[in-house]
Amino acid sequence: MIPDKSPRVLELEEKLLAFMEEHIYPNEQRFYQEAEDHGPWKLYPVIEELKPKAREAGLWNLFLPESEHGAGLKNIEYASLCEIMGRSHLAPEVFNCNAPDTGNMEVLARYGTPEQQAEWLTPLLNGDIRSAFAMTEPDVASSDAKNIESSIIRDGDEYVINGTKWYTTGATHPNCKIFIFMGKNDPDADPYRQQSMILVPRDIPGVTVKRSLPVFGYYGVPDRASEVVFDNVRVPASNMLLGEGRGFEIAQGRLGPGRIHHCMRLIGLAERTLAKMCLRTQQRVAFGKPVSEQSVTRERVAEARIMIEQSRLLTLRAAHMMDTVGNKEAKAEIAMIKIAVPNMVCQIADWAIQAFGGGGTGNDFGTAHAYATARFLRLADGPDEVHRDQLARLEFRKQAARNDTGGVDGWGVLPPRIALSPN
Ligand SMILES: Cc1cc2nc3c(=O)[nH]c(=O)nc-3n(C[C@H](O)[C@H](O)[C@H](O)COP(=O)(O)OP(=O)(O)OC[C@H]3O[C@@H](n4cnc5c(N)ncnc54)[C@H](O)[C@@H]3O)c2cc1C
Repeated sequence: MIPDKSPRVLELEEKLLAFMEEHIYPNEQRFYQEAEDHGPWKLYPVIEELKPKAREAGLWNLFLPESEHGAGLKNIEYASLCEIMGRSHLAPEVFNCNAPDTGNMEVLARYGTPEQQAEWLTPLLNGDIRSAFAMTEPDVASSDAKNIESSIIRDGDEYVINGTKWYTTGATHPNCKIFIFMGKNDPDADPYRQQSMILVPRDIPGVTVKRSLPVFGYYGVPDRASEVVFDNVRVPASNMLLGEGRGFEIAQGRLGPGRIHHCMRLIGLAERTLAKMCLRTQQRVAFGKPVSEQSVTRERVAEARIMIEQSRLLTLRAAHMMDTVGNKEAKAEIAMIKIAVPNMVCQIADWAIQAFGGGGTGNDFGTAHAYATARFLRLADGPDEVHRDQLARLEFRKQAARNDTGGVDGWGVLPPRIALSPN
């Protein structure tokens, strides 16, 4: 089912691995130090130094599938490359493949007008500016996007925008110049047609990035989470994306690729964390033998390997389905990985923290960052429970449509095609 890697992908993998060895891993300590010294409101010089090198090496914008703007890779082709980038928190932005910019660029590439693309997509693709996605609000349960209350009201040739957003990733970045903002333009319409998405430049009157929010006590890395207030902000009517009331449609288009990229990167993070755990436990001797020889360590290492392989296969299956039958048809698979992969990495990072002892909770080994990253991704882009709810709904619907399971009372052997294929 999973196609062989093409010569182009193999070549990109090799280049990427070499770049990681030469530029990313040796600079990680500097990256964390700069993040700590400069905080979430400043640029980290190491990223700006490495970006031109990545671009020169042809390792730039690899995320955009089959598009004139990007590398033209399919999701399944991008999977191993994204996984390699995910091994380091420093890597994705260096290759212009970081969230939320990738999702925002996909929106602009897919739904933007030529004018919107010229103004915002081109500088984003060049890595000259950053962007943010402003949907979640402090005052309403935003996992149900129908609740979003910010307003986008037409006034002549303009829209007037009001609302408070939080956990807006990237807003404190000095180069963040554009928001994709979600809000209601018609509270009386059908609930799925009330919301719109509109482009809001950061540096215009009424936009205030109020504060940086900690993620498990961290500011800036792994996430520049922020609270942003929009107070009577006026933008030209031409900033509307796709049309009034089409916010849900755009969200669906944006979230599929965004979610799978998170999962691909997380698998890379799990691999890295497991590698560290193996090395560390082989080096540390307690009670007369290396910690790696304690059966509990061996069991966790073995379990971790199984969990990573399971997650990778599920993610590749989702990628293959997105490429072959489309994001909409792949929604169950996307929901499955969005639940399974962050949970898998949380567990492995938790075991790694334990294996590192006290040092596992600090910043010297990356284990605490790994845990924080995986843990927040059980919330960002929708909490686990919402994805489980959707998955259960799809499963009930699928089961209702089939009549080949022998019914509730059936004691007989299940027909072979059930055993062979879940779809
Ligand atoms: C680090 C980080 C970065 C983020 N980046 C962004 C960003 O860039 N842009 C943006 O707009 N948002 C962002 N978010 C916000 C994120 O998408 C939301 O936090 C998430 O969608 C949940 O919304 P909420 O916080 O309002 O929780 P609520 O909607 O209040 O939900 C709270 C809890 O209720 C439970 N719950 C909800 N629905 C169900 C259900 N159907 N069944 C069972 N239980 C349920 C779940 O346990 C859920 O966690 C980010 C969040 C984090 C932590």
